[in-house]
Amino acid sequence: RHTLSQERLRAAPCTTKDGTRISLMADCASVEDVRTAVEAGADGVGLLLSEYLLLAGRVNGEEEQYGFYAACLAAAQGRPVTICTFDVAPDKTGTEFPREEEANPAMGLCGVRYCLAHPDFFETQLRALLRAGLAGNLRILLPMVSTRDEFEHALDAVYRAKCALRERGVPFNENTPFGVMLSIPAACLTVEDFVAHGCDFLVIGTNDLTQYTHAADRELASAEHYYRPASPAMKKLITMVMDAASAHHVPVTICGLAVGNPANTAQYLHLGLRSFSVSPQNLLKVKRALLDTDAHPDAGENG
Ligand code: PEP
Ligand code: MG
Repeated sequence: RHTLSQERLRAAPCTTKDGTRISLMADCASVEDVRTAVEAGADGVGLLLSEYLLLAGRVNGEEEQYGFYAACLAAAQGRPVTICTFDVAPDKTGTEFPREEEANPAMGLCGVRYCLAHPDFFETQLRALLRAGLAGNLRILLPMVSTRDEFEHALDAVYRAKCALRERGVPFNENTPFGVMLSIPAACLTVEDFVAHGCDFLVIGTNDLTQYTHAADRELASAEHYYRPASPAMKKLITMVMDAASAHHVPVTICGLAVGNPANTAQYLHLGLRSFSVSPQNLLKVKRALLDTDAHPDAGENG
């Protein structure tokens, strides 16, 4: 298997050495990324960031957003696409989101918090997404949720968005799944609350989850030593997530830069992960590692 050419690797089913099928998806931010991912053989889009639409200054009405989401779904050609609602964050600068000055912006009104504080802004995005749900296989993901009541407030906004579309007579996908992005340790520690109460799927965002678990700024070079995506603390949080999710049959995807590093592939497999999302550039590298690794750590011993 080491000798598989790039071309054959691309076409090969993504199965571990001991025969476990893995869903290998891509982290994307544009229609072009989705096309690149599909060409590289991705099973879908594990995370599509929507805020780059705003950063590029290309937004902002419901129609323009709808056009963008529908184009991403079309580019995925029926493969599942998980679109994350606007993840307002300090590392996304020059944004169109008017924000108050904050001394610690990474711990302030970011992600879904900003959206809950700006309901018109949020519901415009939700209406566009719900409509785009008819154009492909869409799941909607909520970033920076820390407690169940935030998730429920977001679902209230979804309810209002659906009512508004119904009133206008605009068709949308009533059954679009909603999931929580696990970026904050508090959400991992109480993940049972989510999976037992209507959270359809989970995505572990290793970039933010590492930052908040290790209190290490993901952008700060001098904190790099403290930023440990493969630490025992991270493993423990992921184990909690996997246990609760499997008890409730809720699917989990893991995404972020650490997942694009093949050195971490075995660890994630052994923690029970079966759905990976990496940047399109790292897709084949990680696929090669998946093909060369046993999903079960003792598979080799039993032949
Ligand atoms: C993450 O947090 O792991 C992630 C992929 O999202 P972002 O880097 O955009 O915060
Ligand atoms: Mg984030």
